[in-house]
Order: sequence, then C-alpha cells, then structure tokens
Amino acid sequence: MIARRDPDAGLARWAALEATSRGRRYPEPPAGYRSQFQRDRDRIVHASAFRRLVYKTQVFVNHEGDMYRTRLTHSLEVAQIARSVAVALALSEPLTEAICLAHDLGHTPFGHVGQDVLDECMREFGGFEHNLQSLRVVDELEDRYAEFRGLNLCFETREGILKHCSPANARRLGEIGRRFIEHRQPGLEAQLADLADAIAYSHHDLDDGLRSGLVTIEELRGVALFARHHDAVRARYPDLGGRRQVGEIVRRMIGDVVTDLIEETARRLAELQPASIDAVRELDRPVVGFSPATAPLHRELKEFLRARLYHHEHLQATRLGAAQALSGLFTAFLQDPGLMPAEHGDLARALEADAGRAGRARAVADYVAGMTDRFAILEFARLNGDRAAC
Ligand code: MG
Repeated sequence: MIARRDPDAGLARWAALEATSRGRRYPEPPAGYRSQFQRDRDRIVHASAFRRLVYKTQVFVNHEGDMYRTRLTHSLEVAQIARSVAVALALSEPLTEAICLAHDLGHTPFGHVGQDVLDECMREFGGFEHNLQSLRVVDELEDRYAEFRGLNLCFETREGILKHCSPANARRLGEIGRRFIEHRQPGLEAQLADLADAIAYSHHDLDDGLRSGLVTIEELRGVALFARHHDAVRARYPDLGGRRQVGEIVRRMIGDVVTDLIEETARRLAELQPASIDAVRELDRPVVGFSPATAPLHRELKEFLRARLYHHEHLQATRLGAAQALSGLFTAFLQDPGLMPAEHGDLARALEADAGRAGRARAVADYVAGMTDRFAILEFARLNGDRAAC
C-alpha cells in the first residue's frame, strides 16, 4: 500500500477542492488511489452515451466526411483547452476534464436541428433541452452500476454539466437548479468548461468550414481576429498555403484567446480574492472571461460562423432530411412504444404509469436523443419499410 496523494495539493483556495465537495447523491467509499473527480471523469469515459458521441454531428452530418469534427472529437478538444487553463490557474484539472467530456452527452443526433425538432415534438410534454438532457444522462439514463441508477457523480461535476436551465426546470431539479433561480454562479471549473466549449467550437468550426469550402479565406478576412493572424502568417511564411496555412492561423488564434482568458481571469481573481468556491458561487457575475479587448473579437468570430456557416443553404438542405427522420421516429414510437427495444419500451410503460402520456413521451425523447446520426437514419428507413435507403 503506498500513500494516497492529496488531490487538493497545489490548488488555489477558490478551486473546487475535494475536501469541501458537496459529495454524491448516494455516498460511496473512497476510490482507492483515484480522487473523487478522477473517478467522475473515468465514469464518464466508460459511459455508453460517451461512446455514441463519435457518431453524432457537430456541424456537418456524420456521413458527410471523416475529416470533420464529431461531438466526440469536439468534447476532447474542449477538455484539452480547458485542462491547460485549469493547470495555469491552479484549478482542479480532473473536475474540469470531467465536465468538458460530459457537457454534450445529452445532444441529439443531427446537432442543433435535432435539438429543435425534439423540443418541438416535446412541446406539450415539458420540452427538450440538450443541456438538461446531459444531466439526465448522467443522473438517470446510464445504467451500469449495481448500487444506483446513473453515474452518481459529485455535485460539482453535475453543477458544471448543467450550464443553462429554464426557471421551471430549475425549480423541479431542486439543489442543482437553485442557482438559476437565485442568479448565482457555478464554480470556476464549470465557468471555464463553458468558455472552453465556445473557444473550441468557434475555431474548429472555422477550420471545418474552410475545409468544406462553404466559407472562404476571403470571407474570413472580414473577421478581425482571423485577418490579424492571416497577415502575420503570410508575412512570416509567404510561401505557405493550403491546409498548413489554415492550421497555422487557427492554432495562433486559439493560442491568443486562451492566453487572454488565463490572464484576464487571473487578474480578476487577484482583484476579487474569493475565499472559497462558495464565495465564487455568491458573486453576481462569472469570473472566468476574456478581456474587454478580446471579448468582442471572439464574439465577432461566433457571429460570422452563425451567419455564414451554420445557416448555409447546403447545410440547411441536409438538415431538412434530418428533421423529417427525427420527428418521424418520435411520432412512431410515441404511438407504439413497442417499436422500441424492450428496455426502452419498459421504461416508457414505467414513466407512463407515473406521469401519464408526458412520461411516455419523455421515454421516447430519451431513446431518440440517444441515437447516433446513422442509427437514426437507418431506424427511420426501417420503420418506413424502405430497405433501399439502408
Ligand atoms: Mg459543446
């Protein structure tokens, strides 16, 4: 037996310390040589919902090409960025990683169009929010431990996963939803995961957008952050072109905003000097953030992508088919839950006994949301007897 390392050693007093963790819903003995937050991260990586992220759309539908990001590679990129910042700021690295790896577990197939379609289908049954669904996946839907349903994660991990929440859902969720009613903040690791998500998707969507040809360098010259690094790379490497030039620009852009995030957050922490994670939670605004000079630059990039890439007509056409498939699946399963695999049919019956038709609809939404892009397409074809589409 060797001595167990103190997981809080070297962390700032405002970090999420395991010594002051609010713990798990079902208390468990310590995890041998792993810390509690390491255990959370490991449970997430072993979850079946995590494996399915590999076949879920980020922006480009999964079958459009193997070179594009998927929800899995996106989640890894988010974790990578956030871990670097966490280490620089003496925050909890394993907690930050756990939150990042879990943040998109509740995403539907087909990206945001899937979320919108499922929300529409669930309108009279309480709606569907992918972020809330991520929490539902780790709290209820993962089913692999003898002692409890879900992954029984620590409060701090669950707090970080639940980024947004409507007041109605917040009231229903109890303690974990309270901050949305009281307008308080989550811990710094959660705030960091949220911004690392935005940094990761805006830069890798730019990269994928260029790769696909749906946006061009000339268009991107209108984005100040891109133009600055495009100029610098061309000045330093005049003969560099193609993918290598794009790679060099994107890596410099990410480096720039991540450095700014670290320095601005460190400056705010030095000024605020919060006594603990609870003092961070009591603040009226987030601490982790960009400087006033960088915040508008990052916003401009996100707005460019929203206008030119996410709403591009080529993507809209693909999405129309995706929307039809998802709403078709939802309608068919709601009508006859027996069409779902037995375990989901059983769950639908149990939830229906509890909450009527809304319970049945929730079980159908859980099943459909958990599908990968390609499984949803195959399943829709199967239900329609369209063997040719397979
Ligand atoms: Mg994300």
